[in-house]
Amino acid sequence: MTFVVLENCIKCKYMDCVDVCPVDCFHEGPNFLVIDPDECIDCTLCEPECPAEAILSEDDLAPDQESYLQLNEELSQQWPVINASKEPPEDAAEWDGVPDKLQYLEK
Ligand code: SF4
Ligand code: SF4
Repeated sequence: MTFVVLENCIKCKYMDCVDVCPVDCFHEGPNFLVIDPDECIDCTLCEPECPAEAILSEDDLAPDQESYLQLNEELSQQWPVINASKEPPEDAAEWDGVPDKLQYLEK
């Protein structure tokens, strides 16, 4: 099992999740974070830390969220590890909850 970063992280990227992960499984792209499913130990610590409610266990994914499991796996192979939080984007709060953000994902 693994935890998965979902659409609402796109352009929010508050990064509170990064500081609690004990095994450095977050990877950072230009405007999104992902979890490496091969590294995640299912400790559950990150899910309640995310202010955007953008992290779920793979077991709790809705049918329309299941594609994010593959997206996390794919992008975690391409992006570098991030293990300490940085400043979030200045407009992060404005993007929290905006629907259909997948179109803005930068790879
Ligand atoms: S705390 Fe949530 S919104 Fe912020 S980077 Fe982590 S998953 Fe993305
Ligand atoms: S569940 Fe634990 S190990 Fe997995 S990404 Fe979250 S904090 Fe890291």
